[in-house]
Amino acid sequence: MFCPECGAPAVDGLTCWDQLGYLLAWEVQDAELAAIHFLTVSSYNLQHPANITDTAIEWLRAAYIDHLDGVLPLAEVQLRMGKRFAGAQRVLKPKGERGAVLRLWPMTIADVYAGGNSSGAAHRVREWAASIRGQQ
Ligand SMILES: [Zn+2]
Repeated sequence: MFCPECGAPAVDGLTCWDQLGYLLAWEVQDAELAAIHFLTVSSYNLQHPANITDTAIEWLRAAYIDHLDGVLPLAEVQLRMGKRFAGAQRVLKPKGERGAVLRLWPMTIADVYAGGNSSGAAHRVREWAASIRGQQ
């Protein structure tokens, strides 16, 4: 089984979404990982845009790039995104317009999840983000 959007393989029966759930759960015990929560979630969303409006993805990508390039501190990312996305209605596509389009990436959530290895996860999230940044 491969993800119809990012092409990642299912790992031990876990989909991309399930693997993201593990990453977020690890944040509780890993302050370094918790500190880059924005990168984890945004990297996932940028590789899984099917349910998200084109406008929301464009804004997210712009904030993500500015943050990675060091010109937008995290507090300002949150402020910027919070103002623009007051309510999920503006972020999610209407159900009839949702559809996965496969795009292949150098790294996916499966590389970050690494078979359930929480050690070094923050480092792998940064590599993942850098690889996505390089694809823009
Ligand atoms: Zn995927």
